[in-house]
Amino acid sequence: MILFGQNLWYDKKGDEMKSLYDFNYEQIQEYALEQGWKKFRGHQIFQWLYRKHVTNIDEMSDLSKETRDILKENFIVNPCKMVTKQVSSDGTTKYLFELEDGSYIESVLMIFNYGKSICVSSQVGCNMGCDFCASGLLKKRRDLTSGEMVAQVMSVQKDLDATGDRVSHVVIMGTGEPFDNYENVMNFCSTINHDRGLAISARHITISTCGIVPKIKSFANEQTQYNLAISLHAPNNELRDKLMPINKAYPLEELMGAIDYYCTLNNRRLTFEYILLKGVNDQDEHVNQLAKLLKGYNAYINLIPYNEVDEHGYRSVDFDSALKFYDKLMKKGIRCTIRKEHGGDIDAACGQLRAKKEAERME
Ligand code: SAH
Repeated sequence: MILFGQNLWYDKKGDEMKSLYDFNYEQIQEYALEQGWKKFRGHQIFQWLYRKHVTNIDEMSDLSKETRDILKENFIVNPCKMVTKQVSSDGTTKYLFELEDGSYIESVLMIFNYGKSICVSSQVGCNMGCDFCASGLLKKRRDLTSGEMVAQVMSVQKDLDATGDRVSHVVIMGTGEPFDNYENVMNFCSTINHDRGLAISARHITISTCGIVPKIKSFANEQTQYNLAISLHAPNNELRDKLMPINKAYPLEELMGAIDYYCTLNNRRLTFEYILLKGVNDQDEHVNQLAKLLKGYNAYINLIPYNEVDEHGYRSVDFDSALKFYDKLMKKGIRCTIRKEHGGDIDAACGQLRAKKEAERME
């Protein structure tokens, strides 16, 4: 029996059709064997999906009609329908997709000098309840399947195909908490990373978590080459409790303990994300606490300009203040970067586009 995270595809049959994108390379070969086909059929299907970007099973021309019919009876290819696409003046493109069950999700394509990066959602809504975040305005409806995450990458890739460009980087930083959907996220990463398919380098895939300690430890044990980013946003428990409820379950001491564990097993540089919220976490005391907390780690802090969300009332610092914060940290020996703002002229904050669309639906 093939297991896709918590979703057994057998359970879903007759309910919603499973997507071929739910299979990683090994699973699709296993499926082929279960059908009494040669393992090579699985390989061929994988190549059609990820090398030729085919979304119509009938175009898989080296499969027999009988094989294609079995696939068509049991699977769809892309479970994401593009609803809207907003292109910013800097090339940032925001996609809103509708899923088979009518849920909406968002993905964002960002253009960097080193390549094209897509920000993928991992859940429909989010339950983490961070006080500044637009995604959590709508509670989690469900986890995304691995195939629905693959579909975000493939839909954007197909959109790029005409220009000959390629999605080279993936960040799991859209709506949702990836470590609250661990198995499906890991399956997704394995599919897009596989060298017989899209071959997106593991070092170009980043998983961002708000700090679910047991899953950081599971991730550490897997010893992958994927990047780990930790949403820190506050250097002390009192403030972090206010900004991020997850801190009440896993306070900073436990989070840093899990990170220490990760570092003993993985020789990879970590990223700490830190949104600069005006008057909240941008003072000298925070610089000092941050430096103390992160001194000696093979890590850097990514200082993030805050995308203001009307419902929350937090304000972003201006660029000059961000630069001062940066300088003070660097002086204390903490490596930092300031994240470049993307798509400022479109609904850029995570979850904004989806929240609007859901609101329209309620009207
Ligand atoms: N749940 C995961 C991944 C999704 S959020 C996590 O918490 O890491 C991805 C990143 O965007 C997180 O660092 C999150 O705190 C940040 N973020 C959320 N809302 C934001 C906003 N309005 N402006 C800037 N960054 C935001």
